Amino acid sequence: MDPIGNPRTETQDQVDRGPRTQGLTSINRRDWLRLTVGGGAGLALGELLDVSTVRAATQRLKLENVNEFTTSCNFCSCGCGMIAAVREGKLIAMEGDYDHIVNRGSLCVKGISMFATHTSPNRLRTPRYRAPGSDRWEDISWENAVERIAQKIRKTRDATWIATEKLGDAEVPVNRTDAIAFMGGAQNTNEECYLFQKAARLLGTAFVEHQARL
Ligand code: SF4
Repeated sequence: MDPIGNPRTETQDQVDRGPRTQGLTSINRRDWLRLTVGGGAGLALGELLDVSTVRAATQRLKLENVNEFTTSCNFCSCGCGMIAAVREGKLIAMEGDYDHIVNRGSLCVKGISMFATHTSPNRLRTPRYRAPGSDRWEDISWENAVERIAQKIRKTRDATWIATEKLGDAEVPVNRTDAIAFMGGAQNTNEECYLFQKAARLLGTAFVEHQARL
């Protein structure tokens, strides 16, 4: 039927469709819509293309020279698992990890945009330091940052060390500092948490917390 309800002629249909030849490139817009309506596209394309060959070829191209690594979302305490695809040392994609116990492949809107964070020109790539009284931040090396942190921990620990405490009439050893605390996160692995705990106890602090409990 045409737009005002009259039966369509064969000529009108031919004008709408345009010249028809064999093959995918000859499908006009009207035919394409017909094919896709009702899920017919897959069946119809199957007659024109060797679908399994195309699928295998695109899969091969997609994964060519790609290494995949598991990682976790850095945004919140859920710690959803992600898979990072790297080609020639460059991160090219990130997606939810279907095998991860926390999220089973799904990501929220923040996690799904993590790739944009990675490529952002505003992303900090080195530690920064603002000297006392200064009005600006300066980039410093990782070695410098680790050295500074170690010195501050040592200084704080020495200044606040509590060797003994009175318990009734007795003076008992406690060997601790109450001025240092450790904060773990949902992104840390069990192995990392084990090492954090070791480091915290060796430094003498009892204050070990987890980001997800706050
Ligand atoms: S994907 Fe969303 S819910 Fe999962 S860790 Fe990232 S921010 Fe949190």
